[in-house]
Amino acid sequence: MAITLEDNYRHKGMRRKLVEIIRSKGITSKEVLAAIDAVPRHFFFESTFLEFAYDDKPFPIGAGQTISQPFTVAFQTQLLKVEKGDRILEIGTGSGYQACILAQMGARVFTIERHKSLFKKVKEFLPKIGYGSIKVFYGDGFAGLPTFAPFDKILITAAVSHVPKILAEQLKPGGLMVLPMGADDVQIMTVVHKTADGEFTTEKHGAFRFVPMLPDKSEE
Ligand code: SAH
Repeated sequence: MAITLEDNYRHKGMRRKLVEIIRSKGITSKEVLAAIDAVPRHFFFESTFLEFAYDDKPFPIGAGQTISQPFTVAFQTQLLKVEKGDRILEIGTGSGYQACILAQMGARVFTIERHKSLFKKVKEFLPKIGYGSIKVFYGDGFAGLPTFAPFDKILITAAVSHVPKILAEQLKPGGLMVLPMGADDVQIMTVVHKTADGEFTTEKHGAFRFVPMLPDKSEE
């Protein structure tokens, strides 16, 4: 696969336009917009698909999976209220783009992918583009990462029908989890807060479409 690891004025210009589109759609966090402006999304695309890298659209990345729409990445990231040094667990590494956005904002990122092929690709690729600090794991996100828990934040980037109990347990009191919730075609973006005494409260933030979070890992 031919990927251009060059980030020239043309790419930067395309990215600036994307940032303006996302801002016009309602993203207000300066830190989130700065991260979208900083991470070269075209690094995640074959060079023949460069034109698509800065559209505000999802795109296929193989194994039947997609790199999320930039607006969706920005929206989930804004809800996560990322602070420097946060330990964040992402479920559904996919292309690795969302993980880079979190790392760019100063978070310590742990990410899990159930597809072996995607996992391998991302694990090798991230150090080459300057995001070698992201810890990439192959496994079933429903199990979380007990060895590295608890986390300040958990971000699920695949559709779930309920709040996964094990993940809720791996969240720090005072922490929050962002997840697209719904068993049908459309999910409601949901924020779950874990209070200091371990109770949970939820907020809902509009409709989105995600690929489903599937049980178990895949050898594919
Ligand atoms: N965050 C990604 C996009 C995610 S698409 C990006 O920035 O590109 C959703 C991803 O979740 C897919 O790669 C899919 O394989 C993965 N996934 C689905 N179920 C999973 C599970 N149980 N554990 C880990 N990953 C899972």
